[in-house]
Amino acid sequence: MSAGLKICIVGSGPAGMYAAGDIVKKSPDSRIDIIDKLATPYGLVRAGVAPDHQTTKNVTRAYDKVMENANVRFVGNISLGSDIPLTELRRLYDVVIIATGTPKDRSLNIPGEDKSGVFGAQTFVYWYNGHPEFRDAVPDLDIDTAVVIGNGNVALDVARILMRTEGEMLTSDLADHAAQEIFKSPLKCVHVVGRRAPENAQFSSKELSEFAELVTATPYTDKSILPDEYVSEDKKQERVVNTNLDLLRSFEHIRPGIDGRSIHLDFLASPVEILGDGHISGVRFERNRMEGGKAVGTGETYEIPCQLLVSCIGYEMGILEGLPVEKGIVKNDEGRVAEGLYVVGWAKRGPSGTIGTNRLDSQEVVDRLLSDFATGGDAAKPGPEGLDSWCRAHGIDVVSFDDWKKIDAAEVARAGEKSPRRKFVRTRDMLSLVKDKVQKQEKTC
Ligand SMILES: Cc1cc2nc3c(=O)[nH]c(=O)nc-3n(C[C@H](O)[C@H](O)[C@H](O)COP(=O)(O)OP(=O)(O)OC[C@H]3O[C@@H](n4cnc5c(N)ncnc54)[C@H](O)[C@@H]3O)c2cc1C
Repeated sequence: MSAGLKICIVGSGPAGMYAAGDIVKKSPDSRIDIIDKLATPYGLVRAGVAPDHQTTKNVTRAYDKVMENANVRFVGNISLGSDIPLTELRRLYDVVIIATGTPKDRSLNIPGEDKSGVFGAQTFVYWYNGHPEFRDAVPDLDIDTAVVIGNGNVALDVARILMRTEGEMLTSDLADHAAQEIFKSPLKCVHVVGRRAPENAQFSSKELSEFAELVTATPYTDKSILPDEYVSEDKKQERVVNTNLDLLRSFEHIRPGIDGRSIHLDFLASPVEILGDGHISGVRFERNRMEGGKAVGTGETYEIPCQLLVSCIGYEMGILEGLPVEKGIVKNDEGRVAEGLYVVGWAKRGPSGTIGTNRLDSQEVVDRLLSDFATGGDAAKPGPEGLDSWCRAHGIDVVSFDDWKKIDAAEVARAGEKSPRRKFVRTRDMLSLVKDKVQKQEKTC
């Protein structure tokens, strides 16, 4: 057991929180600062998980327990890169763990992607979830048709949130500004388009089954492309896929949407061009066939007229000075990046898996770093006191865990009767609740 390490975790999402929880257990004398660029902790649990999936967010209770440990501090509202460089963090702490997730949308790499009305999932989801950097990325929802590219759960989340009514979202924490736009939108039709076959879709049955329960929108799929049965050596996978296929088949029998709204699940098509002058007016797709497990273009094209496109095809690491980034992740050897520098979560392995997937992954990296530091850390490292000095010297108004609890309580107190919270979406509003003065400029996307 390594005694008394000074550790900084960059990012308070699931991966960072599981790493902190494991260090607390295995090296209880270590002091851990969990820094985050936001004034609010827990990463995508707050800013990604769909606002109508509140039970998923209960995982934060376990993270709260970690934050309440005497040797753990939440230091919010400080960004690695713009507020403090990596070299400085590495000077202050024995160990720095990068847990920033993958904060950049993957590009479609097709002509027309720069047109207005075209959004990456990150921007769109962060907008409706009230992420302060995306508060002003307002999509024009005065539209009749939207296209969502992708066949994972994020694509289904986006389509569902666009089609939910005010009544269906009463128990959610959808951000006010997004609610205003979504509920007044005349949107009639959402196409969710995947490049591979229905049996290759990545979404889970739970998410898919929610389409059948939407109050005003009806799901459709072309039944002729659904295989009768999916057979695989992987029996778990076989069960999941067959449940999805049964659901897709059942969609045909659902009553027509009350006001004719619909979600179409289209497969075997890749976007090749976004059409329109300045603003998107449609998407041209090429039909695909499956060959050796891969989607291959057939040369046949078709168009879907639309006024909004949300691309949900994954995320990648952006550039952070001092971090080697390769293929969209931080280059690492089983979590080790360099001496005293580690990476966990989506920044380590890319954007896949659920919240729970990060637990074992972070634990493995913690085991590795504790064995690297089995003889202990460097007593001369300034640790948390050094970070405090840096923040004082640079006028950084950090948010502590107690501050966050006040913001949290205020959000809960001002919520509607059935809603769990009404989010603050401007960092300055959060700081004004807990600070005398607001020193930091609001960042925008
Ligand atoms: C839209 C969406 C919906 C999802 N829904 C579900 C779901 O319902 N159920 C489920 O199990 N999984 C879901 N997931 C997956 C789950 O959210 C991820 O597995 C998990 O959040 C990854 O954890 P992470 O800690 O690596 O990254 P993140 O959760 O992204 O956390 C990264 C943290 O680092 C901070 N950060 C980033 N850059 C910096 C910087 N430069 N300086 C300081 N801090 C920084 C961020 O503010 C953030 O708090 C969803 C993912 C997405 C994208």
